[in-house]
Amino acid sequence: MKKIMTHRHAEIAGAGFAGLVAAIALADRGWSVRVHEKDAVLRAFGAGIFIWENGLRVLQAIGAYEAVMQAAHEAIIHETRENNRIIARLAFTPAFGSRMITMTRQHLYDAILGRARQCGVTVVTDSAAIGATEDGTLLTADGRSHRADLVIGADGVKSKVRDALGLLTSRSPCADGIVRVLAPRCKDELGPGTWDHVIDFWRADRSLRILYCPCNEQELYLAMMAPVSNLEASAIPLRHDVWVAAFPQLEPVIRKIDAGGRYDAYETTNLERWSAGRVAIVGDAAHAMVPTLGQGAGTAMMNALSLAVHLDEAPSIEAALTAWEARERPLTEHTQQRSDFTARQRLMATGEGWTDEALRAARHIPTGTTQPRID
Ligand SMILES: Cc1cc2nc3c(=O)[nH]c(=O)nc-3n(C[C@H](O)[C@H](O)[C@H](O)COP(=O)(O)OP(=O)(O)OC[C@H]3O[C@@H](n4cnc5c(N)ncnc54)[C@H](O)[C@@H]3O)c2cc1C
Repeated sequence: MKKIMTHRHAEIAGAGFAGLVAAIALADRGWSVRVHEKDAVLRAFGAGIFIWENGLRVLQAIGAYEAVMQAAHEAIIHETRENNRIIARLAFTPAFGSRMITMTRQHLYDAILGRARQCGVTVVTDSAAIGATEDGTLLTADGRSHRADLVIGADGVKSKVRDALGLLTSRSPCADGIVRVLAPRCKDELGPGTWDHVIDFWRADRSLRILYCPCNEQELYLAMMAPVSNLEASAIPLRHDVWVAAFPQLEPVIRKIDAGGRYDAYETTNLERWSAGRVAIVGDAAHAMVPTLGQGAGTAMMNALSLAVHLDEAPSIEAALTAWEARERPLTEHTQQRSDFTARQRLMATGEGWTDEALRAARHIPTGTTQPRID
């Protein structure tokens, strides 16, 4: 039986994918929502992204799917190449059970932000959270306290909200990091080839990798992985010579990459609990993971939607938070562990990374989504 609720209000720290999806899902259920973003400009970092079926289902449930698909690329085949020799191919047929859709991060972000605005979500920029208290108060750097029925810490891997509540139990850095860039497609310059596929180019002898992902007809996303210890390949500005030497077949594209950018290291984080009192922690703030399986944002969005569903159905905020964590945490932790294992064992380099176990989250039907697979 659905509870009849009086008006409820949420204060959210962080206007990333987790914060905005939580905001939309709550607003859809009658909450008023204010999101605090520390940056002055609302935008996404990280060039490109791929989203599996679970994330697509969430996007449909929050009403952002059509806008996202207007400028996204559906990968039909994923190839693994060692030294430019194809060693594995995976076809995303209906029997595979999940599509892999690639796009620019900004496009995904704009679609979700647009939907948040349509739902009446208030987003305040230049408003950094510095902590929260268990009674449901968000504290911001301007000295203000914001009371709410629920505070959500969706402020990313370095979450201030989480840390103020002492919830972090472990963080385990990965030995690799990635330079993420957008480049023009350059199909003509690349010559004949399967350039509409997603191609995982490896040089296992140098522990270097370029994940080549078309985002649309014009833009290409390259995720260039190098160990933190490889100072040349992880250097910013990008060392074009180092990357061209390892991947000469991609030279026309590599040469067009803007020399700026960022090298991002990543980690796995675990919390003692995903909530404390009337504060919930969502997304990377709760469960950052190594990006091997491309599930960080997918999982963040699933858990954000599920949080709103549980709040709608449980008799109290506290009961909702407990039920939410019990329901979602096992699959999230499974995905974190598989992501880390796949990276450590270098399973993607041999085309053996995307096993049924690894892809469990991709094929999962998220809480709050009832739609059949969208073809
Ligand atoms: C190299 C790499 C590749 C990846 N590829 C994929 C992929 O292909 N598919 C996928 O699903 N996932 C991928 N991920 C993971 C994905 O990027 C993250 O899981 C996702 O961005 C998490 O969303 P979030 O909203 O929890 O956190 P974030 O995206 O980090 O957003 C947090 C937001 O909070 C803001 N903020 C931070 N601190 C404060 C504060 N104190 N107060 C207010 N606001 C604050 C930030 O500015 C930001 O806007 C990848 C990650 C990496 C590192």
